[in-house]
Amino acid sequence: MTFKNEYLSASRLKRFAQCPKSFDLHYVRGEPAAFNPATTFGSVLHSALERAYRVIVAEKITGRFPEDRLLAFFEEEWALASLSDFESFQDGVKILRDYVQAHALVEHEKILGIEQEFQFELEGFQVRGFIDRVDRLDAETVLITDYKSNRAIFTRVEVDQDLQLSIYAMAAQKLWPWAKTIRLSFCLLRHGIQMETSRNDEELGAARKYMVTLARASEQAAEFPARLNENCGWCDHRAQCPEYHRALLGKVENVCTDDQDLSAVAREREEVARLARILYARKEALEKILKRRLDEGGTLELGGVAYSLAKTVHLSYPPDTTLMLLHEFVGGEPEDLAAQLLVLDKGSVDDLVKKVAKQLTPAESRLLKVRLEAVAQKTYSPRFVAERVKTAEVAP
Ligand code: SF4
Repeated sequence: MTFKNEYLSASRLKRFAQCPKSFDLHYVRGEPAAFNPATTFGSVLHSALERAYRVIVAEKITGRFPEDRLLAFFEEEWALASLSDFESFQDGVKILRDYVQAHALVEHEKILGIEQEFQFELEGFQVRGFIDRVDRLDAETVLITDYKSNRAIFTRVEVDQDLQLSIYAMAAQKLWPWAKTIRLSFCLLRHGIQMETSRNDEELGAARKYMVTLARASEQAAEFPARLNENCGWCDHRAQCPEYHRALLGKVENVCTDDQDLSAVAREREEVARLARILYARKEALEKILKRRLDEGGTLELGGVAYSLAKTVHLSYPPDTTLMLLHEFVGGEPEDLAAQLLVLDKGSVDDLVKKVAKQLTPAESRLLKVRLEAVAQKTYSPRFVAERVKTAEVAP
């Protein structure tokens, strides 16, 4: 069977590089992809932001971000998607509220593109895609933004070498040839962080070669081996993948029998580490299913294990009140105290209180703790608890 890529995109090429089997199932055989709640959640956020920015442009808004519209779009998109759990609904509302706080002011004139489509030719292949948002920062500068809803924060190397951003840089050069500077960014929605990067000609040349090599390899491949990786737990074809099912059984193929053979030690270590990541991801997915039932209330008792949700308290401290309170008890300048607290969370405040407790009497120390607790803002989140059920001992 001769396979020809209809077009190239970052996700298509990344899929081939990460796991040829997944590429085969998805693009060559066209197997239907399983529903993926994380990807669907990301698409809902994307659609809500896209619609809000389209309103900003259509209604020529310069000023406050239309938060109400954004949240209304989110609710509509949520209802259309097949999502149901309340936890991620709340997550979405919080993520978008935080986004508005960080992007409180908008200027419709700066927006160059929303879901900007592009297509260009690369050594006989067509490269296609959409860019989430493009802003014109000044007469020579374009900022490309790609929204990400990932839980993990990217490393600097990942951002600097990301193929998707390289493709966007190539597209931007064609779409806005007047731009002397093209800034590329991932907007990490869950973390309120914008990670920026750029690409020079040499890096883009290397990316083009890499893309063509991968594209040709995907068309010439005689076999598409499975490559187990840390994303298997979310792979949309894992149900059709025997290798993944074998991995869930936790069997190690390369067991090292000679501790002096460091290559064998490393080989087994890598295999165990990969299996541990896959099993951990599976454990999380299974807990999520149980949590959905527990969200409805009560506990579950299954197979001799009781499952419940316990409340976890997160404390955050209002900066001004907290610093004044610490100043009142331990003296010194609020600025100096602020410098000792990189972030105002429970860990850093506890550390500081422990440090200064030597200067205080036990009563003062207790009073400081009580007053800090009173000013702290509390948020609660559920924690999954699994406890083996104690069975009554049977008399011999
Ligand atoms: S589950 Fe893992 S190994 Fe199997 S197809 Fe998906 S990515 Fe590849």
